[in-house]
Amino acid sequence: MARYTGPSCRLCRREGQKLFLKGERCYSTKCAIDKRNYAPGQHGQGRRKLSDYGLQLREKQKAKRFYGVLETQFRQYFNKAARKSGITGENLLVMLETRLDNVVFRMGLASSRKEARQLIRHGHFTINGNKVNIPSLNVSEGDVIKVKENSANSPKFKEVKEAAVNAPGWVSVDFEKLEGKILNYPTREDIDIPIEEHLIVELYSK
Ligand code: SF4
Repeated sequence: MARYTGPSCRLCRREGQKLFLKGERCYSTKCAIDKRNYAPGQHGQGRRKLSDYGLQLREKQKAKRFYGVLETQFRQYFNKAARKSGITGENLLVMLETRLDNVVFRMGLASSRKEARQLIRHGHFTINGNKVNIPSLNVSEGDVIKVKENSANSPKFKEVKEAAVNAPGWVSVDFEKLEGKILNYPTREDIDIPIEEHLIVELYSK
């Protein structure tokens, strides 16, 4: 599966806000957005007024970068979201939010979506007792995501137990057992990323 391998902080600087791509560093004073909050490159500090198209494009790029999804896959998500009943923009965000890598991150079992993807690819998780290694898999209501028994004693997951971060209301997490359950699909109100999804719909509807 193709993936972005360039510098993560550059993506945040391009979008002009924190995308939280690097775990703990994002909350430290080393964050590039805190130090150099302007777009990268020679003209990064120049003033620019975006056209409507520019605004729509930036919003789409931001959503892709938040969730670590490349263009082709993002477009596929949009097409699926458009075919579902309901509001296309919200359908799109719910599909992105219920990707396994995002769920593992939201549950606090990884410090970033990027780390979650790596842990999943390395086979550290099960869903309903079945081994999984596909970060883009969409979870469903009632699914139980668990750290595999022989991975649970690794230093990484010991750290996770100690940190025991707060998870959103649509999942429940038992840090002792290193497992979480999907209580219900997230609603738009549950998704706290700063995306104006209607701009993405406008972009793809041209
Ligand atoms: Fe973005 Fe995190 Fe880098 Fe800050 S440290 S610029 S939030 S990836």
